[in-house]
Amino acid sequence: EELANVQPRTDEKAVFSNIAFLEGAPPLSEHWSVFDTNDAVFNAARSAQAATVIFVMGQNSQIEQLARYIHTLRRQRGTALKIVVRESVPSLRATDERLLLSCGANLVISHSSALSRCLTLIESVQNQQFSRRVPEDLATLFSNTEPLKLKGYLKWDVFCEAVQKIVSNPLLPADGKGVLVALRPAPGLRVEQALTLCRPHRMGDIATIADKRLMIFLSFCRVNDLDIALNHIFPLPTGDIFSNRVIWFEDKQIAAELVNMQDVKPERWTKPLPVTTQPGKIINATHDGRHWRRYPEPHRLSADTGEQSS
Ligand code: C2E
Ligand code: C2E
Ligand code: C2E
Repeated sequence: EELANVQPRTDEKAVFSNIAFLEGAPPLSEHWSVFDTNDAVFNAARSAQAATVIFVMGQNSQIEQLARYIHTLRRQRGTALKIVVRESVPSLRATDERLLLSCGANLVISHSSALSRCLTLIESVQNQQFSRRVPEDLATLFSNTEPLKLKGYLKWDVFCEAVQKIVSNPLLPADGKGVLVALRPAPGLRVEQALTLCRPHRMGDIATIADKRLMIFLSFCRVNDLDIALNHIFPLPTGDIFSNRVIWFEDKQIAAELVNMQDVKPERWTKPLPVTTQPGKIINATHDGRHWRRYPEPHRLSADTGEQSS
C-alpha cells in the first residue's frame, strides 16, 4: 500500500513545512505545502522521496515524538529526503540536537537564527545525500540522552561506579560526557555543610563527599558552560563557598581521577547531614530539640532568618 504511493524523484523541489516555520510569511513558492502540525507534515512526507521536510520544535515535550517521525522517515524513505528541524523557542539541549541528528535529521536550526538564515541553511542541504548510519533501534538512541537515572547525593562508591559507567560507554560522545568537579570548602565550612548548598535539578547531575572534598559530576555539561551549571546548582556564587576547584572533562582525565577516588578508604567518606523534610516547621525545632547538631540547618544559610544563632 505504501509502495503504491512512492513518487519518482521529481519531488526534489517539494517542501513540506510546518506553517509555524514561516512566521506569518506566505509560502515562498508553488513548491511549498504548509501544514498546521508536525503530525500533518509527517503524514504528507510519508510518500516523499527527495522533498524537503520542515518540522518546528517549540516544546521539549515534543522531542520524543519528533525523533520517532524523523527516524521513521529516514529509515523508510531513504537518503535523498532532506529533513530539517527548526527550533522556534529555546528548548533544545545539546543532547536533544544529537538525538535528532542521529535519528536522521540533516539539519537542526537554532531559535537564534533568523528566518532568512534558515532558508540559506535549507538551500545548503539541497541535493545532499544523507550519509550517516541510522541505527534501527530507537530505544538505544533515547537511552543515550539520559544514561544516568540518578540525581543528587550518592555515596562515594556509588558515585564512582556511576561516573565509571558513563565514561566507559562507547555510545556517548568522546570527551563530551560531562564535567567532573572537585570543590574544597572555604575555611570554616565543612564539606557536609557545603553539600547542603549543592542542589542539582537536572537528572544525571550527581555529587558525593569524602576527604574534605565535594565532588560533582555534571552529565553532558560542556566545560565552557560549567559556571552556568554551577550557578543553577548553588544558591550562592561558588567562589564564596569554595576556596579551591579542580575540573576534569576529557574521558582519560576523568578515568584517571576515578582511579584516585576509588583509592579513598571508606573511613574517609563523609556522612551527609540528616535531611530535613519540612524546612518551614523545623527552623524552631532545631534550636531546642536537636542540640546534638553543631551546625545550622542548610536552609538557614540562604533564608532571611539566617542571622539567628543557636
Ligand atoms: P543554559 O541554562 O544557559 O545552560 C547552558 C548549558 O550549561 C547547558 O546546555 C548545559 O550544558 C549546561 N547546564 C546548565 N545548567 C545545567 C545543569 O543544571 N546541569 C548540567 N549537567 N548542565 C547544565 P544545554 O544542555 O545544551 O541547554 C541549552 C539551553 O537550553 C539552556 O541554556 C537552557 O536555556 C535550555 N534548557 C535546557 N534544559 C532545560 C530545562 O530543563 N529547563 C529549562 N527551563 N531550560 C532548559
Ligand atoms: P531534568 O532534566 O531533571 O531537569 C529538572 C529541572 O532542572 C528543570 O525543570 C529546570 O528547572 C532545571 N534545569 C535543568 N537543566 C537546566 C538548564 O540547562 N537551564 C535551566 N535554566 N534550568 C535547568 P523543567 O524545566 O521544569 O524540566 C522538567 C523536566 O523536563 C526535565 O527534568 C527534563 O526531563 C525535561 N526537560 C525540560 N527541558 C528539556 C530540554 O530542553 N530537553 C530535554 N531533553 N528535556 C527537557
Ligand atoms: P533555584 O535558582 O534554586 O530556584 C528555585 C525556585 O525558586 C525556582 O524554581 C523558582 O520557583 C524560584 N525562583 C528562583 N529565582 C527566581 C526568580 O528570579 N524569579 C522567580 N519568579 N522565581 C524564582 P524553578 O523555576 O523550577 O527553577 C528551578 C531551577 O532551575 C532554579 O533553581 C535554577 O537552578 C534553574 N533555573 C530556572 N530558571 C532559571 C533561569 O532563568 N536562570 C538560571 N540561571 N537558572 C534557572
